[in-house]
Amino acid sequence: MAMNEIESDPLLQVEDLKVHFPVTEGVLGRKQVATVKAVDGVSFSLRSGETFSLVGESGCGKSTTALSVMRMLTPTAGRIAFAGEDITRHTPAMMRPIRRQIQMVYQDPFSSLNPRMKIADIIGEPLVVHGMASDKTFYRKQVAELMDLVGLLPNMADRYPHEFSGGQRQRVGIARALALRPRLIVCDEPVSALDVSIQAQIINLFMDLQQELGLTYLFIAHDISVVRHMSDRVAVMYLGKIVEMADRDALFDSPRHPYTQALLSAVPVADPAIESHRPQQLIVGEVPSVRNPPSGCRFHPRCVQAMEQCSQTAPELEANQQGHLTSCHLYGSAEGRLASAEVPG
Ligand code: SF4
Repeated sequence: MAMNEIESDPLLQVEDLKVHFPVTEGVLGRKQVATVKAVDGVSFSLRSGETFSLVGESGCGKSTTALSVMRMLTPTAGRIAFAGEDITRHTPAMMRPIRRQIQMVYQDPFSSLNPRMKIADIIGEPLVVHGMASDKTFYRKQVAELMDLVGLLPNMADRYPHEFSGGQRQRVGIARALALRPRLIVCDEPVSALDVSIQAQIINLFMDLQQELGLTYLFIAHDISVVRHMSDRVAVMYLGKIVEMADRDALFDSPRHPYTQALLSAVPVADPAIESHRPQQLIVGEVPSVRNPPSGCRFHPRCVQAMEQCSQTAPELEANQQGHLTSCHLYGSAEGRLASAEVPG
């Protein structure tokens, strides 16, 4: 979506979000021996109509962030606001009207669909749960429209999930998420279980639906190449923190953080002549445990550009004049401390 089509007020605002889990020991698990800081001070916002992507390796905290936004987890600290309403401490009852406006599409379309329900019933179930199915004519019309929206044929309505391909099942999951006409859809790795050719079809479907329905997406992915075409802005997470955040083109064309550079360098280029000559920037070693993250910059044990100070002092997330945020000692005070946890519009 073009930036000038995006409304200025944030639909979702996440400020200094922290989600910490106690690690316990003992027979009754009463003795806390450590704390896992799965998300540790994450801030971002989404304007209505845009796609904001969170990317990073497994264990970086992106899915925990998504579950917190859905309020399936209660944050340890920080603030989450949806359409101006602070929902950080909302009870399930208080979340009920908000739930209609925030829906989720899951990674594995097969395990997220009830195998004993017909496709039409799966898609229509949210309407039943929210008391919008008493008028049978309205209900059937809604389900038929939803199937049409995601490219499912009317004669598929009475089939079961096991009769569908992975891509078709994800279309069912998307139709179900759209049933309550949400404003925000949290997409947690929605294409990573699909073949590459099917991934492109589902990404195109997401983009078409956004144009048609004015949807806002929080898109979670471990594969940075997947989010390139559909994102307006991208944040890269590493061990519970955002290390880089920028408009899509700035991030893909001029990545600044060594971790982002390495992620992009690992994406193959279609042209074999270019692929065989382009420099590769490898990430060394495994992702450290989030239970015991490295001192200073959490990326320093794997960073090919690490300096002495990197193991001692954690860099701040700082913006350059274009609003491109980076958390790395290679940048910072020389560019002026426009420090903010938010990307300007
Ligand atoms: Fe690498 Fe140091 Fe930058 Fe961390 S702060 S990404 S270790 S150069």
